[in-house]
Amino acid sequence: GGRSLEETLERLVADVPDFPEPGVGFKDITPLLADHAGFTQVVEALAAPGRDADGNPTVTKVLGMESRGFILGAPAALHLGVGFVPVRKAGKLPRETHAVSYSLEYGEAILEIHTDAVAPGERVLVIDDVLATGGTAAATIELVERCGGIVAGVSVLLELGFLDPRSKLPGTQVHSLLVS
Ligand code: AMP
Repeated sequence: GGRSLEETLERLVADVPDFPEPGVGFKDITPLLADHAGFTQVVEALAAPGRDADGNPTVTKVLGMESRGFILGAPAALHLGVGFVPVRKAGKLPRETHAVSYSLEYGEAILEIHTDAVAPGERVLVIDDVLATGGTAAATIELVERCGGIVAGVSVLLELGFLDPRSKLPGTQVHSLLVS
């Protein structure tokens, strides 16, 4: 039995109009996180692109972006049987970092990774909740490449297709559980 993934996401991701500002439709995943069956189903689906047909992991790390990528990426890493790497906002990581700045709707943001978090040649799966403009994912891919790593795929719960995020991610395998 069990519910379909699409039904789970439609039931447990709340649409919040005009948050954090007028015109933005915010996707709130907190009801999903609070539901053990739904959370489990979604974490397994996000991790799936990191496995081969025999169920063996094809990546050696999962990367998650601050902060909802941490909540989804860490259990996905444990589920795959690999380690987890946090990509953080500027100034939070204590050791040597690579930093990439990228443009937001208003202004700029900086993301960082520890330089030794991904080894040269290592294959990683990137996980976040929402793919909107694709800027955050594109910056994260650049950080992995600065380490010498390879992004095997980007796995997200929701893709806002009308913002065309894939145009910022040429050559990247994007796996979205739901496109709206
Ligand atoms: P972007 O860089 O435009 O693809 O934005 C993606 C990042 O911003 C992700 O880390 C999301 O958590 C967050 N985000 C952007 N738009 C939304 C939205 N409509 N609802 C929830 N989170 C969003």
